Amino acid sequence: MPHALRIGGFVPFTSIDYPEQLSAVVFCQGCPWRCSYCHNQHLLTSRTTGLLDWHGILKKLHQRQGLLDAVVFSGGEPTLQKSLHHAMEQVRVMGFKVGLHTAGCYPERLKSLLPLVDWVGLDIKDLPENYPSLTGSSSSGGQAWQSLDILLSADVPFQVRTTVHPGMTEEQVEQLRTDLSRRGVTDHSLQVCRY
Ligand code: SF4
Repeated sequence: MPHALRIGGFVPFTSIDYPEQLSAVVFCQGCPWRCSYCHNQHLLTSRTTGLLDWHGILKKLHQRQGLLDAVVFSGGEPTLQKSLHHAMEQVRVMGFKVGLHTAGCYPERLKSLLPLVDWVGLDIKDLPENYPSLTGSSSSGGQAWQSLDILLSADVPFQVRTTVHPGMTEEQVEQLRTDLSRRGVTDHSLQVCRY
């Protein structure tokens, strides 16, 4: 039996986290990167107190069967936790669609999860070479863009999202949009950085 998912937050009802679906959002604890503009700092460490009980959340989801369309796993970085696979299976059995918000930190794990996922929101922060100064991880650009390539060759709908961070010039944004478009991305959303 896998360890229960470590949860740092739960939103029982939202209409904005999965396109055109009413969903609940599970905020998974932990992220391997440390982006300077991260607005979920409290979710970054894997070791923390105040975690929510996954089994309690399953009970709440059970009560919402027929009222919600989907459960979205967000974070932090959900694919950090190996127990995500089992958690997705559990909510699928309950009849919910599965959404995933990821920064693409673990391309191979993302690939193995895709059969369980109905929609992905992929965070592409910048061109690969600009990642290390943003995330503090030298391999992060390659990992995120490899995840993008996996999604481009898979059969799961996805949206690429970019937070325009303060160090990003208009030219960089344009270059990123051009590169994504050349690669075949058709759904790219820009959002303003919030602190
Ligand atoms: S990848 Fe996302 S959750 Fe992780 S530090 Fe960066 S912005 Fe925060």
